[in-house]
Amino acid sequence: NNTSNQLLVIFGASGDLTARKLIPALYNLYEGGHFPENFAVLGASRSDLTDEEFRKRVVYESPFLKEQVKKKDKDFIKKFADMMFYSDLGSDYDSEYSNLNKRIEALNKEHKLDENYTFYLSTPPSLYEPIAKNLSDQGLTKGSGTDKAFRRIVVEKPFGYSLETAKELNIGLQKYFKEKQIYRIDHYLGKETVQNLMVTRFSNSIFEPLWNRNYIHHVQITNAETVGVEKRGGYYDKSGALRDMFQSHLLQIVSLIVMEPPISAEADEIHNEKVKALKSIRMMTSKDDLFNNTMKGQYVASSIDGKRVKGYREEEGVDPESKTETYAAVKFFVDNWRWKDVPFYVRTAKRMPTKVTEVVIHFKTPHHQVFKEQDVNNKDNKLVIRIQPDEGILIKFGVKVPGQGFKVERANMDFYYSSLADKNIMDAYERLLLDAMQGDTTLYARADEVEAAWAFVDPILDYWANDKDVPTYGYPAGTWGPKNSDDLIEDSNGWRNPGEL
Ligand code: NAP
Repeated sequence: NNTSNQLLVIFGASGDLTARKLIPALYNLYEGGHFPENFAVLGASRSDLTDEEFRKRVVYESPFLKEQVKKKDKDFIKKFADMMFYSDLGSDYDSEYSNLNKRIEALNKEHKLDENYTFYLSTPPSLYEPIAKNLSDQGLTKGSGTDKAFRRIVVEKPFGYSLETAKELNIGLQKYFKEKQIYRIDHYLGKETVQNLMVTRFSNSIFEPLWNRNYIHHVQITNAETVGVEKRGGYYDKSGALRDMFQSHLLQIVSLIVMEPPISAEADEIHNEKVKALKSIRMMTSKDDLFNNTMKGQYVASSIDGKRVKGYREEEGVDPESKTETYAAVKFFVDNWRWKDVPFYVRTAKRMPTKVTEVVIHFKTPHHQVFKEQDVNNKDNKLVIRIQPDEGILIKFGVKVPGQGFKVERANMDFYYSSLADKNIMDAYERLLLDAMQGDTTLYARADEVEAAWAFVDPILDYWANDKDVPTYGYPAGTWGPKNSDDLIEDSNGWRNPGEL
């Protein structure tokens, strides 16, 4: 176990993410024996809570740890809960920082935490910079990201609202922390299958030689959710699918598919290649390009399994005339030697028939067809990388149908991550928290990476927001998007919906 003794300070500790994701992730790390010898968590937010009340809220009475608290040995749970502390920040985050500082010092002394501090910001993004400034005013940011007495800051998504605001936020944080100390969360990068994209490509000589324009016809990425905006209508209406999913998670996945092999698995080597990949995506700036290669939609009321489902504009917190997209699809090309003329199609939407995220690499058909056209079913080979659920990899290839002649059908070679069941697969937050605690930035987004992703998305956002000719197509909740959604992808025979051949 190479995690140093440390204190994890969580800002926004009274919030949803802390109870739902962060504390359960910490619990699993604790149970898995990943905690250092000395460890403590200090929750901080404006709510007035004592240490005991905080422990009740995030451990003993937390709906997210119910099973564990019920089943596990009482002393074991108590030991975990006793590592949690709370400091209230008064009615606004600018005051009371000296109290917080004193509490940090006291915990450091009492629990021998070696002055190693990780600050996790699970607050509204508008507070990221002010919190960083306050920590700096208290002298709490000095030190490095890696050496003894380290200081690290982890920030949640969204990281910016546009290229400009992302740049401002980077500048704001970098006033107080060095880049090596900053960890920008993109929880998709914590998923095993996303990391496995690199391993699949770079550790197999059967894939990498084919991973280019000579063999790949096109790439499709689908991110589908069955839920609508739920209680986040107000937030979502100002954001939309392109900001919420595409700019961050989906472009991160794209960068891992597109990137050149890094020199090594060192964090910076990987980040360098990812930035290069993102910068090589061809920007769309002309109205024609934007019109032909992007599509937005919104779910409308429908009935799913006999139950009426609200349309997006009827959702709480959503403007009844909203143009915000709950469906976004983008076609683009990558301007480099490897990917010239290979189209990428990426779509993300709410209220689709199933919850799934997957990448499908569609290979070209063989140059010369030996068998009769009508005998060959589904000609192209496909590599399907399922990111969620049922994480795994599927290869579709042609086999002979038993019997006379040469009829060709597709067969599947399917690998499920769950078949590695003896290995406890870490949840994304568990993995990312552990990496931050160990000072590994590989799975966090670097400043230039985030900016490169925004640079591609910005013109689309601008066009969608400001051009009155942009249609927002309706699609009934529970379907695969607007009726004409295949228009965007007609050169490649339409979208392949998950579960289909
Ligand atoms: P939340 O439930 O609203 O919690 C936000 C926390 O910030 C609360 O503890 C609140 O506590 C504190 N806060 C301080 N000043 C505030 C202010 N001026 N207005 C509102 N709250 C203030 O949000 P969350 O869902 O935990 O999300 C936290 C962060 O993670 C956000 O940046 C969000 O975008 C991001 N995120 C969340 C999820 C998720 O699944 N929930 C997923 C991805 C990203 P006090 O009122 O006690 O100060």
